[in-house]
Amino acid sequence: MANLARLRQYVQDMTHLVERHGGDEPRMLDEGARLLYDLVAHDDWLPPEFAAPAKESYRQYLLYCDPLERFSVVSFVWMPGHRTPIHDHTVWGLVGVMRGMERCEEYSPALEKMNAHEVKPGEVDRVSPRVGDIHVVSNAGTRTAVSIHVYGANIGAVRRHTFDPATGAPKTFVSGYHNATVPNLWDRSKEPAPA
Ligand code: FE
Repeated sequence: MANLARLRQYVQDMTHLVERHGGDEPRMLDEGARLLYDLVAHDDWLPPEFAAPAKESYRQYLLYCDPLERFSVVSFVWMPGHRTPIHDHTVWGLVGVMRGMERCEEYSPALEKMNAHEVKPGEVDRVSPRVGDIHVVSNAGTRTAVSIHVYGANIGAVRRHTFDPATGAPKTFVSGYHNATVPNLWDRSKEPAPA
């Protein structure tokens, strides 16, 4: 059974972090990355319905959103061949790979192709308007990949952009989420009693 206590602890730690340092993006990225490393290093907590792939495209499942929308936690599920359009975020974000392998192709603000790199299980990537916000992410392996993302807003509700690869023309989009319900982190009846 999925160890939801781990996800609950993570969102509690993230809540303390945004309370203390929500206005300090470098600190949110550094300390948020440390928390996310630990979360994706333990692959025992994600319920299977939030790791379910779909043939037509990658999936984006909301796992938790802070009540004040200061951060959100999302699972992304990619089958081989799935890739995003060129897109931005407009807020800080951290991407931790938990299963499989992803490829991240970075673009400059002027939409020049920059570095491309692979992100392996246990690694965490960063995005933000300050550290580089435009990229394409794809599954770089031969099996389904799952990554856990945390963003400095309710990312599914943020008005952001995709970019036409030929002309660079931006198009506004709001991604939403593929799931209608989120994991129930608050039913503790199945968990062992504290010692
Ligand atoms: Fe992205």
